[in-house]
Amino acid sequence: MAKLRFLIALVAAKLTKFAIKLLGRNASHNPGVIALKICPDFLKLAPKAPLVICVTGTNGKTTVSNLLTDAFTADGKKVVSNRTGSNIVPGCTTNLINSLNVFGKVKVDVTVYEVDERASRLILPFLKPDYLVVTNFFRDSLKRNAHPDYIFSVVDTYCPDTTKLILNADELCSARLKENNERVFYGIAEMSTDIKESINIVADYSLCPKCGTQLKYDYLRYHHIGHARCPGCDFESKNADYLVTKVDSENKTFTLTHNGKDMVFPLINDIIFNIYNQLTVITTLLQVGYTDEQVQELVEKIHVPDSRLNHTEVNGVKVTQAMSKGQSCISSCRTFDFVSSQPGKKAVVIAVDDYYDRKKSIEFSGWIYDVDFEFMTREGVEQIICTGPRCYDHKVRALLAGVPEEKIACSPDEMAGIDLINVDLVDNVFILYDTSTYNLSCRMKDKLLAILEASK
Ligand SMILES: [Zn+2]
Repeated sequence: MAKLRFLIALVAAKLTKFAIKLLGRNASHNPGVIALKICPDFLKLAPKAPLVICVTGTNGKTTVSNLLTDAFTADGKKVVSNRTGSNIVPGCTTNLINSLNVFGKVKVDVTVYEVDERASRLILPFLKPDYLVVTNFFRDSLKRNAHPDYIFSVVDTYCPDTTKLILNADELCSARLKENNERVFYGIAEMSTDIKESINIVADYSLCPKCGTQLKYDYLRYHHIGHARCPGCDFESKNADYLVTKVDSENKTFTLTHNGKDMVFPLINDIIFNIYNQLTVITTLLQVGYTDEQVQELVEKIHVPDSRLNHTEVNGVKVTQAMSKGQSCISSCRTFDFVSSQPGKKAVVIAVDDYYDRKKSIEFSGWIYDVDFEFMTREGVEQIICTGPRCYDHKVRALLAGVPEEKIACSPDEMAGIDLINVDLVDNVFILYDTSTYNLSCRMKDKLLAILEASK
C-alpha cells in the first residue's frame, strides 16, 4: 500500500512538473509539495542515488552545492541538484523526484542537495546522505535560526550516524558535530592577514565549550574563524586533514596538503570565503574517490557563479555587484570588509533588506546592528547610498559607526538611489544586493552603466 501511494505521488509530481514547465515556470518546488501531500513518507520511501551528498551551513552552501554539481557534470556523471529551487523539504523532495524515472527507478549517478540547516531535521534522517558537507555555523536571522548552538543541536541530533561528515576545522561550532561519526576536516593554515583579536562586532565562541574559560586564538581570520585553544583544559580547534598551506594570489594557485603530500590547484578567486568554498568542494571530490589529478582537471572547469560577484568597467569607473545577504550579518560583514578594503575611491550602494523575504511579517532588524558598518569608515569610501525600505535603518547604523553624514545618501526607491551616486568622485561603485534583490540590482547596474556611457 505504501509503495502504491509512493508511485501515485511520484506520477502526480511528474505530471505537476510537466504542467508547470508548459507554463514556462520553474518547477523546483511544487512537484515536491504535491508528492508530500499524497505521500507524506515520500522522502523515506523513495529510492536514493548511488551517491547522495547533502550540503548545509550558514554561508556558502549554495556556492558549494553548485560547484560540486558542476564538477560531477564536467566528469560526465548524471547528477541532479536543487540549485534552482528551495533548500527546504519541498525543494529537496523535488530534487529527489528529479532523480527518479516515472517508474520510481533511480536514473542518476549522484544527487546533490543544498539543505537549509534548520529544515535539516525533516530531511537528513530520510535521505540518509553518504556525505554531509558543512560549511560553517554563524549567527543568522535571530527570528528563524535563533543562535548557532541551536542549529548545531538540530543537525547534531538529526544527522544519521551512518553519514560521513566533511567539516570546517577552522569553525569551532560545526567542527564539533557528530563526534562519533566518520569525519574529515578541511582548513586554511595561518595567513599573513590573520589577526589575534577579533575586530568584528559578532564574535561568537569566545569561551571554551568544555569549561567556559576565555579561548586564546593562535590566529583569527574573521568572527570566530581561526584556530583556538583553551588555557583551562585540553580543548582546541581540530587539525585539518586537508589543509591549504599556501595561497599564491599572483599566480592564481593554492597548495593543499593532505597526508604529507602537496597538491597545487588553480585558484578560482582569492577572496577568503571563496577559497573556503573551493577547498570544501575539493575535499568532497577527493573524499568521494577522485584522484588528485582528476580533481585538478575538474577544478579547471568550474566557475564561481556570476550572480555572486561580477564587474563591468565603463569610462574608467568599475561597477561591481556583490552579494551581501540581509538578515545574515556575517555575509554582509564579509562583503563590507571586502568592498571597503578595495583600492581607489568607492561608492557603496546598499540594496539589502528583508522586505522581499518577509512580506507578511517583520524580520527582526537587529542584524543591521551586527553588521560591521565600521568598515565603511575606511579611507576611500567616499559615498554610501542606502536604498530600499530599510534605507533609514542603514543610515542610522552607518552614523553610529562613525560615517560622516555628508557621505551618506538615502533613497527608499532603489532605482532613484542610482542618481545619487557622484560618478565624478569615485572610480569604483559597488552595488550590494540580497538573494531577493539580485534582479533589481541588475537593473540598478544597467541604469548606472547608461549614466556612465552618457558621461563619456
Ligand atoms: Zn576549556
